[in-house]
Order: sequence, then C-alpha cells, then structure tokens
Amino acid sequence: MKHTKMTLSTETMNLDFVRKVESLSGSSVRRCFQCGKCTAGCPMRSFMEHPPNRIMRLLQLGQWERILAGRSIWYCASCETCSTRCPNKVDLAAIMDALRKLSWDANGPSKESYVQLANRLFIENIKTYGRQYEMRLGAVFNVKSGQFLKDLLLGPKLLSRGKLKMFHSKNKNITEIENIFNRIEEMRKTVL
Ligand code: SF4
Ligand code: SF4
Repeated sequence: MKHTKMTLSTETMNLDFVRKVESLSGSSVRRCFQCGKCTAGCPMRSFMEHPPNRIMRLLQLGQWERILAGRSIWYCASCETCSTRCPNKVDLAAIMDALRKLSWDANGPSKESYVQLANRLFIENIKTYGRQYEMRLGAVFNVKSGQFLKDLLLGPKLLSRGKLKMFHSKNKNITEIENIFNRIEEMRKTVL
C-alpha cells in the first residue's frame, strides 16, 4: 500500500464528523489511548489497511476521509472482540457501525464500493419484499457493478436445481417490516 504524507490543519481536521460518530455510537473517540489491544484481538485486521486502533487514531485527528476511502470498515465482522478487550471502554464495534452508516449516507468513494453496493441492495430487498430475493440481488448487483456476464453460467444451474427462484412473493408480514424500517428512520433523525 502506498503511504501518503498526512497533513494536519484546521481544514483537514473535521471534528464535526467525529462528533457525529460519537453521537451515533454512544462511545467516546477521545478515550482511546492507543494501547492496541483491539487490533491484537481483531480477526479481520489482516484484511484492513487501517487496523482498528489506527481507525481510532485517524478519527482523533479528524482524518475521516481516509477511513471512508478505505476498505477497513467494510471488512469489520462486528464480532465485538475489540469492544470487549478495550481497557478504556471504547465501543469500537459500535464506532465501526457508525462509520459504515455515515459512509452509506455519504455514498462515499469507498474502494470497497462493491461491498457497500451489496449491503444497500440486500437491505432494499428486505424493505421491498420482507425477505431476501436472491435472483434480484444477484442480477441488480451485476448490472450496477458493471459485471454483466459474471454469473451467466452459474445462474441457469442454480435455477435448474431450485436454488434460485425467478419470481418472488412478498413476506405476508411486510407491513410489520415496513414499520421497523420507519421506526429506524425516525431514530436516525433524532440521533443526527
Ligand atoms: S468488531 Fe470489527 S474491528 Fe472489532 S474486533 Fe471484530 S472485526 Fe475487528
Ligand atoms: S483497545 Fe481501546 S484504548 Fe486500546 S487502542 Fe483499541 S480502542 Fe484504543
């Protein structure tokens, strides 16, 4: 990975963003004293260009654009090991969740935009159908990611074995699921 020099100035330190992260996660960013225990226990750290403790340091320095431009937050498995190990009660797993939400809202230029796209389509399907609709998920993902021919051979095989359904009905409890999404939207407005 290419390392670029970090410039710290009032322009580059976006502390409003850090306050949003703290508000959403309910956890303090400032409490982190860089002991590294979170990273030592993180099962996904080898896939991240910014390991968990560095995410905290970048946040403290207001360097959120570096975080959102990378893949680390999308490789976090939400296992909560970091939060459990932190001697200073930093809920890093909740901070990762908050960062994914803010990245989602910003629709930012993540290197892992495919992960973000898959997440978005997954949730959209749940919202629309009340359950997952794999055929649609795969087809829309391939079109939106520009990989039109990706599953050309696999799709028919899965259809013939009944692993994929061409058409899909909505969950009969769709109204309850819509209510859950509405409540989440209301909560988001009060937090931000
Ligand atoms: S919650 Fe995410 S960052 Fe924390 S230990 Fe698990 S994978 Fe790593
Ligand atoms: S374990 Fe807690 S205090 Fe230590 S680096 Fe990680 S977040 Fe910071």
